[in-house]
This record gives sequence, structure tokens and C-alpha cells, in this order.
Amino acid sequence: MKNIFNISLLLLLSFSLIAQDKKWAGKFEQLDQLLPTPNTYRTASGAPGANYWQQRADYDIDVELDDETQIVTGKETITYYNNAPEVMKYVWLQLDQNDLANGNMTEKTRTSTVRDSTAAKFFAVASSTYDYSGGFKIKSVKDATTGKDLPFLINYTMLRIDLPSSMKTGEKYSFKVEWSFTEKDRMKFSRQRGGYEYFPEDGNYLYTEAQWFPRMCVFDDYEGWQNKQFLGQGEFALTFGNYRVRITVPSDHIIGASGTLQNAKAVLTPTQFERFEKAKKTFDQPVLIVTQEEAVAKEKEHSKKKSTWEFYAENVRDFAFASSRKFIWDAMAVKINDKTPLAQSLYPKEGNPLWGKESTKAIKNTLEVYSSRTIDYPYPVAYSVHTADQGMEYPMICFNFGRPNKDGTYSHRLYEGMIGVIVHEVGHNFFPMIVNSDERQWGWMDEGLNTFLERETKRERYPDVNIASGSPKGIANYMKGDKNKMRPIMWDADNVPPGDYGPNAYSKPSAALTLLRETVMGPELFDKSFKEYAQRWAFKHPKPADFFRTMEDASAVDLDWFWRGWFYSVDNVDVELDNVKWFRVKSEQKDLENKSVKTVQGDLTASTKGSEKANDFSQGPQEITVVDTKDNFYGEFKSKINDADVRGKLQNKNLYELTLKNKGGLVSPIIIEWTFTDGSKEIEKIPAEIWRQNENEVKKVFMKEKEVTNIVIDPNNDSADTNLGDNVFPKKAAVNKFEQFKKN
Ligand SMILES: [Zn+2]
Repeated sequence: MKNIFNISLLLLLSFSLIAQDKKWAGKFEQLDQLLPTPNTYRTASGAPGANYWQQRADYDIDVELDDETQIVTGKETITYYNNAPEVMKYVWLQLDQNDLANGNMTEKTRTSTVRDSTAAKFFAVASSTYDYSGGFKIKSVKDATTGKDLPFLINYTMLRIDLPSSMKTGEKYSFKVEWSFTEKDRMKFSRQRGGYEYFPEDGNYLYTEAQWFPRMCVFDDYEGWQNKQFLGQGEFALTFGNYRVRITVPSDHIIGASGTLQNAKAVLTPTQFERFEKAKKTFDQPVLIVTQEEAVAKEKEHSKKKSTWEFYAENVRDFAFASSRKFIWDAMAVKINDKTPLAQSLYPKEGNPLWGKESTKAIKNTLEVYSSRTIDYPYPVAYSVHTADQGMEYPMICFNFGRPNKDGTYSHRLYEGMIGVIVHEVGHNFFPMIVNSDERQWGWMDEGLNTFLERETKRERYPDVNIASGSPKGIANYMKGDKNKMRPIMWDADNVPPGDYGPNAYSKPSAALTLLRETVMGPELFDKSFKEYAQRWAFKHPKPADFFRTMEDASAVDLDWFWRGWFYSVDNVDVELDNVKWFRVKSEQKDLENKSVKTVQGDLTASTKGSEKANDFSQGPQEITVVDTKDNFYGEFKSKINDADVRGKLQNKNLYELTLKNKGGLVSPIIIEWTFTDGSKEIEKIPAEIWRQNENEVKKVFMKEKEVTNIVIDPNNDSADTNLGDNVFPKKAAVNKFEQFKKN
């Protein structure tokens, strides 16, 4: 028994040693089977194919918002166009409000534990803790032509409607849905993006209406129906179409929405109308359409009369609106080549003085920078609406936080947060409202790309705002964390632990793209390729492979290693400058025959005896001999190198042989900062391909005219290196350099 045990233990040990010995991990393998096979819908170049198709859904909606009961009542006619090369028997719609209905799946599947002194908020479950039961009440589903009821079934947040007859390719079908739901206190249910905020001091509501109507799911060539349940974290996949929406509210309300106001004359006072028209022609500063004094005066009015505001939007994937009598309203036109979209802000007095000063200007900055990097902003309006604690985006409208203290003062931190959230949410117009990726599946495709451009906008337009978040330096700490908890960026949005969702979908992909732009590709190649992706996929449904392929296709940079490491793994960058050797070529070639050390032709370092590691340069250079190239090296070829010439060029030069180790696993470009005896510095960038034949350790020789005093790998942490302490030579300087970096 004992012996057998020992033998099996031995076998086990030797097996694990073998397993550990296999260090090669294929980090430069092409992505190949990780990507879907190209076809006529999506090409190998990353572009939409010759037979690319997508569905379309047009909406005609009447909705009323009851300011007394907070009930939203609506009826819609949806015209659905089947462009798919297949027949449809049924369609799927999203019922996001059902995520707050009794027995919803999010609450059922949320894990929990009991701990003493838990904050009440963590027990907040819609049906049991609050006196609130959400969810759509579907009154009817009918054929729009015949008026006949259509069979439907509801599966949590998904509604299936059976069609009276199969819809063939190229056909369209119209149906009507009537519904209502009770709007919720947004402060209590943050996973629902819409809702109201109640202001007890003046007894008024501020509504942000989102996911408020049954919306068509996406049906595409890649997924079929995207009818994954809404669980609060993974956002939306929606179909493009045109919207005509009539919104009935108390007549003293002001509305902003995903579209252009069609009946301004009817719903605005003559003064408001005149200011509105002026704003459309004003490019230098916002024009107030409703002033703070006027908004405050209305807070006491509580009009019983109603008005219906009509909006129209073309080629959008969703429709949201905001409504309140508390709104101050300012607007200005923004020039984007031949387009002049109207940037508009809606905010209660609680948002001032910050909002009047910054919001509309931030919209303008965002539209300008994003347009220059993607496509010209194609929509006619862009709203930013003030809320207490939100950051949420819809086509042409978004809801943003940034509320000063009651006395109007605010911290720099609040200002930075407000600029960040407005740029970010307005920026979402481009990703995913226009470049319409599937947010429910791939959070990073909109959040990551958008966080990257948010940071670029702040870098270009807001020098007073901190931009550490979303940079390689900013993500390093996260990336050295617990790998058992982490998920690769290429992961389903709902299945990432909540604490990891921020880094996973936002800051890590943004850091990756920043590294890609600044270090791997360079700004010119990156910007051209990124723009190409936006142009190819504007108003379409791109998938991850379309992005990966386009970035390579437009730049001639093989990025498979980059996507593999940054998007498909949880490895981190940790390069170690393991050793540095300093050599100088002997000035004369004498006594060659008697050399005691054996030389190998072609290897400059082979004749050194000092194989031990040095800690600094104090030992001086090791002298080496460069011998003549032997005839047999050339074989039958007659043309030969002039050995004396080569030797001449090496005279008095310093040769540095660097040994670098990849300790983090994620292969990375090498940025080397050389400091010379005269105090001057040189930055040298080596592409990540240096690791392509050995992922774990590389040696490379550099020739310098001047003597080097100091070598630092990645001096500004542009590569997200998680341990800078081992990046420095002489080694004794490492601690100091690391301390200095931490202070930066
Ligand atoms: Zn976002």
C-alpha cells in the first residue's frame, strides 16, 4: 500500500513538472478558430458583405405621462420589415419594465448572504421591500389592418407575438400594442435606467423615460433573435427604424427627446419659440430658451391642462424622453462640416450654476471630437438632461449627474465627474446608437470604445480634468489582481461579477485601445483604421470580429497577438529587465590564434567570460574581439562582407545586451529609456513581435555612441506594466525610480 502510494505520488509530481515545463502558450498564434468563419454577410476584411442585411422597425407611438399617478400609458403601431433570407412565424419584443415585476429573474438569481449591520439598500427588492410592483401591463396586441387579436406569450422580459401568417423575405407587417406601467422612483431602482426623481421642497417630479415601450429585439445573421433576458447589467440590442412619437404631459412641462420637435409653435410660448429659433443660428454660446426665473415660477403652477409634444426621428434604434416643469432649457448650434446639430441641455435649478456653464459646451466638445474620429454626427439634435445620480444614454438624449451643493458650491471632483459623464453619455450616440453593436452580449464594444473616445475628448478639450482612468497606467493595478475573479474582455456582459464590470467593459478595453494607438500602431494608423470601422458599421450591427478584422485590414498591422492577450485572456503585462551587459570591441585584432576563449561567429557576446549578473555599470565594459568571417560561412557565393569595415564601424561603440523576461504573460511592446553620461535621454520602441519566437525571455543587443548610465523599461507606464520595480538598471536605482513613479 505504502509503495503504491509513493509511486503514484511520484508520477503525479513528474507529471506536474512536465506540465509546468511547457511554457509556450501560443501567444502569437493567429486567432483563426476563435473568430467566426467569414461569409457573404460579414467578410474576412471585417466589412459588411455583399449580402449583408438587417431588419427594420418603424414606430408610431402615442404616450401619456400622468403627473399625479406616475402611470405611463401608451399605444404603438410597429411596422416590421423582414429583410432576412428566411421566413418568420413570430417576432420577439423586449419588455424591460418586467425586470421589476413580481418574481423577476434578476432578483431570483441574485446571490445573497446575511450579515449583521447590512445597509437597508441591500435588502431592497421591488416586490417585497418597497410597496412597488413594476412591469408592463399589456392591454392588447392586434393586427394593425384587421384589428384582430394576435396570440402572444410573455417569458419574463421577452414578449413573443405569433404572426397571422408567415412573413417572407422583403415583406412587412404592422401590429399594434397597448400597454401601461407605473413609473418608479429612480433613486430606488438603479438597474432600471428610467424613472422619476421627486423634489419634496417644491412637490415636483423630473421624469427620465427609458425602456418605456415594448421594443423590437434584433434578429440578425449572427445570432438569430437576440432574446437574452434583461438582467439589469447587459444593456440593449435594438433595431433601426423611424419614430413618430406624440407625448402628452401637463402643459407647463418642457420635454426633450430622441428626435426633432415637430410642433414647437403649438407647445412653446411665443417668447420660447423665438429663443428656440435664435439658438439654431447661434454657434458661440448657449441661448436660454427657458430661464431659471421662469422655471422656478412654474414650480408652483402645477398646471391641470395638457399639451402633446410631437417628435420625429429617422434611423434611430430607440426613443427616450425627459419631462418636467422644473426644466431650465438652453441650446446652441454646433458646426460639424455641412451639418448643424442643436446641442441642448435641460436641468432644474438644482443643477446650477454648473449646468448652465458647462453642459451644452460639453455636448459641443463631444460632437466635434467624436465626429473627427468616426463619422460626422448625423442626427439633428443632442440633449444632455440633468439627474441626481444617473449616467445613461439613448439616441440624441442622455441623462447625467453632477449636482452642486445647495449653496451652489461644488468640488473639482464633482466638476470632473460631470464633464466625464456628459462626454461619455453624449459619446454613446456614436457607440452603440450609430455603430450599433449588441450591448447585451458585448458590453465592451460600446462601453470600451466609448470610454476610449471619452478620454481622448477630455485629453483634447479639458486639460483640467484627470484622465488616469481608461489609460494603461490606470488599469495596471486592476490587472495584477485575482485572476480567478477576472473575466476576459470577450465575455458576456451579464456574467461578469458586478465589481469587475467597470474594468472589464470600460477601463480595460479603453486602456487597451490607448496602448494600441500610442504604442503599438501609432496615432496615424490607429485613427485611420478606427475611422474605417465606424464608417463601415455606422447604422449597422457589427460584431467583435468585424472590429478586430477591420483594425488589421486598414493598417497592415498583425494584431492577433494583441486581441488574444488583451481581449481573450486575463494575463497582465509585467516585463522584467533581468540583466544588462556592457561590451566594447577591442581596437586591435591581435593574437587571435592564441585566444583562450572560444569564439562563435555571428554572436557578439559569445567571447565574454562574465556570465554573472551585474547590478550596475561600475565594472566597465567587457572587451570583445570581432574576428574575420570564415570563408565557409559564405558557401559557394563570391560576394563577401568587408570584415575590416565592419570592425571599423564598431570601434569605440558601446554594445548593451539586454535580457528581458515576460513575467505577466501578456506580450508587450518594449519601450526603453536610455540615459547617457551627458544627461541626455533617448526613447526607443521595440514592437511586441520581439517575443514572437520566445514568449518568456528575449535578449537583444543595442549599439550606442555614448555611454549609458541608466536604462528604464516603460518609463511612463504606457504599457500597463504591473510591476515597475524590476524595470530599471542599475538595479540600485530601481527602488528610487519606483518610489518616484508612485508619486506621479
Ligand atoms: Zn457607457
